Amino acid sequence: CGIIGIVGTKPVQDRLIDSLKRLEYRGYDSAGVAGVVDGQVERRRAQGKIRALEEVLAGEPLNASVGIGHTRWATHGAPSVRNAHPQHAGRVTLVHNGIIENYAELKEALKAKGRVFESDTDTEVIAQLLDEELKTKPPIEALKATLDQLTGAYALAVLIDGEEQLIMGARRGSPLVVGFGDGEMFLGSDALAVGPFTNRIAYLDEGDYVAIDHNTARIFDETGQAVNRPVRTVAASA
Ligand code: GLU
Repeated sequence: CGIIGIVGTKPVQDRLIDSLKRLEYRGYDSAGVAGVVDGQVERRRAQGKIRALEEVLAGEPLNASVGIGHTRWATHGAPSVRNAHPQHAGRVTLVHNGIIENYAELKEALKAKGRVFESDTDTEVIAQLLDEELKTKPPIEALKATLDQLTGAYALAVLIDGEEQLIMGARRGSPLVVGFGDGEMFLGSDALAVGPFTNRIAYLDEGDYVAIDHNTARIFDETGQAVNRPVRTVAASA
């Protein structure tokens, strides 16, 4: 299972796929990508090998320069297109590696508010919660308020409708790195995932969350304090 996110200045479809192939060694049962196309977030997903996702994309390309990608190792909900990531709710489209331990309670509370679920995943609970928080808070505050309600493990990459140059991320118990490019920024499960694009990497600490745009990474620790994480130059892996 793995995550890639690119706030790019040029098309991301092939680069997302390239990264997902580099993450194949972690194991997976389905894969998906999402990107901003003419101001709208679109998804493409497939069960099985990345080859199957490439076939979907051949029929329906994703013409985006900002996007996220995911390989899934199902823990909650059978491997299927419906349960593949990116998961979606309202303004939120996101990918997740890990397990949300309190998802059942959260799901019941969200259903009681009238929210309708489209998958069997624990992940969709994060998307639904964040969409609720976005009703009253700007994206970064809404993400923090969402993370504060989660128990379990997660690495996340998040797209928000109406925030076309932004990808947010977070990690607890699952790894996530920030990659610094030239007018482009990246999130990835590891240095290998962003290896073709940059060798300048910051490792997020446990509990950190982050917002990247074309040029900057705003990183916060679990208390919400803005922090700097050292940017290292890693051995080129392209
Ligand atoms: N728990 C999530 C799911 O089953 C994410 C699994 C993963 O880490 O790929 O959809």
